[in-house]
Amino acid sequence: MSVCIGEWRERTLILILAETLTESQSTQIQTELRCEGFSYKEIEVADRRLLEVTGNPGQDLTRFSSLPGVEQVIASPPAFKLASREAHRADTVVQVGDVAVGGERIVVMAGPCSIESRAQAMAVADACRRYGAVLFRGGAFKPRSSPYSFQGLGEEGLKILAEVREQTGMRTVSEVTSTDTLELMLEYVDVLQIGARNMQNFELLKRVGKTDKPVLLKRGLSATIEEWLMSAEYILSEGNPNVILCERGIRTFEPYTRNTLDLSAIPVVKRLTHLPILIDPSHATGIREKVIPMARAAIAAGADGLMIEVHNEPAKAKSDGAQSLYPEQFGQLMRDIHVIAPVVEKQLDFGYLDKARAVSQPVDVDDGNGLKVAILGDVGTFSHRACLQYFGENVTAIPTASYRAAFEAVQAGYARFAVVPLENSLTGSVHENYDLLLDSHLKIVGEIMLRIVYSLIGHDGTEIGQIRRVFSHPDVFRQCREFVSGQGWELVSTQDEATAVHMLTDRDDVADAAIAGRDAAETHGMTVLQEGIETNPRNYTRFGIIGATPLTDAPRRKSSLIYQTPNEPGALYETLGLFSEHGVNLVKLESRPIHGKPWEYLFYVDIEADAESPEFEPTLKALKEKTDYLAILGSY
Ligand code: PEP
Ligand code: MN
Repeated sequence: MSVCIGEWRERTLILILAETLTESQSTQIQTELRCEGFSYKEIEVADRRLLEVTGNPGQDLTRFSSLPGVEQVIASPPAFKLASREAHRADTVVQVGDVAVGGERIVVMAGPCSIESRAQAMAVADACRRYGAVLFRGGAFKPRSSPYSFQGLGEEGLKILAEVREQTGMRTVSEVTSTDTLELMLEYVDVLQIGARNMQNFELLKRVGKTDKPVLLKRGLSATIEEWLMSAEYILSEGNPNVILCERGIRTFEPYTRNTLDLSAIPVVKRLTHLPILIDPSHATGIREKVIPMARAAIAAGADGLMIEVHNEPAKAKSDGAQSLYPEQFGQLMRDIHVIAPVVEKQLDFGYLDKARAVSQPVDVDDGNGLKVAILGDVGTFSHRACLQYFGENVTAIPTASYRAAFEAVQAGYARFAVVPLENSLTGSVHENYDLLLDSHLKIVGEIMLRIVYSLIGHDGTEIGQIRRVFSHPDVFRQCREFVSGQGWELVSTQDEATAVHMLTDRDDVADAAIAGRDAAETHGMTVLQEGIETNPRNYTRFGIIGATPLTDAPRRKSSLIYQTPNEPGALYETLGLFSEHGVNLVKLESRPIHGKPWEYLFYVDIEADAESPEFEPTLKALKEKTDYLAILGSY
């Protein structure tokens, strides 16, 4: 439904009120509405407070959205229901085989515009898989602007896609252009793409809605977001909940790019609907060198993933060569995304498919509940988030009361792995976990880095001035030192930060607050009073995956060592010289006093090498000769 605001005299607006709305803001909003002659009524939908406002708002709605305490203005009640956030508060995660679209991990689908031959598809697929793509995309039926352009290989192309799936383990995505070929597509394809030109082909939408295949619904060339979501509604209303949205640029007057990429659609869509959204910067820009910056921006703006055209020989591509990345460019882009993703609290996991396969296979400690992973504390902690981002949504997190208990759970076989913090970018190593590693036969078998954003969490409506007591883990207080100091609060230590939030619900006192991540507030139904209170926003924690054996046989690129050198001049210098001689890159070096031996130190060293491989043996032998004590904490 499109709305021309100028046509309306009297209309209804919905003001979505902020979760942090205070009583004084509420009074101010109501006074202003009354003074301007609007009538209004307060309603509550799915635990959100809304104001239904009736009157003639004119064309400029910004004055409503800029009122303090108003989070969003909806100009007319949206006609989509099943697609709306109100209908479904939690984000929808669409499962495509082992790949979860809309979860904690960025999903990248890549491939050529069209499948041209078996050799071409295989070459592109191998490269995409190697660089971290998890879904393979290629057209078999191509909707082309000109009837004389290459129209795709049809069924032969689909057969090649199925072969790629067989060989690489990547599930496939391809465009369905007509109801006539839908049955055929269902045999070969794991995600049905509805192209921009078919976004309002309602017969096609209804037919794919009757299947249970995931659908990638592209935004039409000139479609408003509301029209796009109405098309999603067609699919959902036929019973298929597996809809993934894809923004691919809209038609504007601007000729420098093929289309205009509407990145602002990401936050708009995230607010209006629970469906995941991918960005296709290839069709949006049409020009190879514009694809990479737009892809980076899409991830920074909160997209759940990307759709990227890649070709092994773009100059010879039968369609869309100018916008197809060379495989190496795609590889570089993926490295950039890997770095950007943690900033927005997500992860690009190069080992995604291999890990997912290993997680879904039965293991020794599996009793039907899937892979078990011990974490400190409960759901809602950053350890829990690290666990989900590393292993995926299908693991069972085993809460424990201490780091030692997490290690013991693995040693006793209750859990196959533990996820524990090893190092924080602001406060340094978590020595307790290094000590536990030295005391056990367990190793670091993987690592994951998370950005840590802390929030002050309390009861709904609490003003910060009312707070007297704040609960959290001591490490958390350290990371938020600037915010908590000088407030005169009593700081109460808890075993982990999610427990701190849980305690608020038990004690039910507005003078109590907690510091934890946003997830913990959501888990326990509490309110975020202030977000981003860590002293330094560059606050990252590196978590180690602790186990007896690794999850996959992925190549091990990094190792953590601990050693002690003799107490003589140049001893440390000589060990470092060995790394230099053997061309080993050092990525961490830290010293720590040895308990009970004043002025003697242990050195904590991370290197970019597999310390347990045969190639490393000569270096290791030389290192052992120059040290009094040496332990390999793990290669991963
Ligand atoms: C495509 O994905 O190859 C394609 C034709 O995209 P769109 O429908 O967005 O133009
Ligand atoms: Mn294309």
